[in-house]
Amino acid sequence: MRICRFDDDRLGVVRGDRVHDVTSVLDRLPAVRPPFPRHDLLIERLAEFRPLLEAAADAAPGRPVDGVRLLPPVMNPGKIVAAPVNYKKHLDEVHADAALHHGNQIHAIQRAGLFLKATSSVIGASGTVGVRFPDRRTDHEVELVAVIGRTANKVRKEDALSYVAGYCIGLDMTVRGPEERSFRKSIDGYTVFGPWMVTADEIADPTDVDLTIEVNGQTRQNANTRDLVLSVAELIEFATAFYTLHPGDMLMTGTPEGVSPVMPGDVMVATIPSIGSMTVLVGEG
Ligand code: MN
Repeated sequence: MRICRFDDDRLGVVRGDRVHDVTSVLDRLPAVRPPFPRHDLLIERLAEFRPLLEAAADAAPGRPVDGVRLLPPVMNPGKIVAAPVNYKKHLDEVHADAALHHGNQIHAIQRAGLFLKATSSVIGASGTVGVRFPDRRTDHEVELVAVIGRTANKVRKEDALSYVAGYCIGLDMTVRGPEERSFRKSIDGYTVFGPWMVTADEIADPTDVDLTIEVNGQTRQNANTRDLVLSVAELIEFATAFYTLHPGDMLMTGTPEGVSPVMPGDVMVATIPSIGSMTVLVGEG
């Protein structure tokens, strides 16, 4: 099942090239009062809600998904966990290029650990990445993103995939420089999630997922998650050894080699065939 958010906070089910408006199902979520939950209520109840979403989609006339404005697919991610240098060839390219490492010590992920991106940096596929510092280098990083489906703490990798609700494409946009990763990668609009979330049953094996990004029609990154240093399951084990993951938390699994700068006016097309494709514009920040 493919779940999107679009236009004015509408909820949709995507079937083929059409989106079916299922927003009415959200009325069945529990009413909340302060203190508000820090996790995503729909993702938390997704198993229970799936039949309702399917029924609502059956009843709703579809419209072309091309004609809607796609928002981030998860309403309220509590945190965005991200993996640094999690492909060996990307580690090699960062080590080799001062424009990428800026004198920072770059360690293998097992030593570096994970980092967090601000939730305020998130946009959807129809948003525009605004280059905030045009005199510095802003790079694209295409990544497979896992959406956590249930509370996960001290999870073993053997069990980890049962905690995944679904997947989407992520762009971990990055201004290069000497600052901490979480600072450079949390600029407004520097986290793109989309085009929708595909439920986990549609990606049977997250260790064999192709991912690509083109900029202005030229392929810049083209890889497969089999080359991840830590797999999705191992990343969940690693993350939950330190902290609890909650429904709706987003896990960005790292980017392969081929990162390169983008400028206002560029057009990025990120594709994971088992999810879909999203066209994201780069503009002024
Ligand atoms: Mn990244």
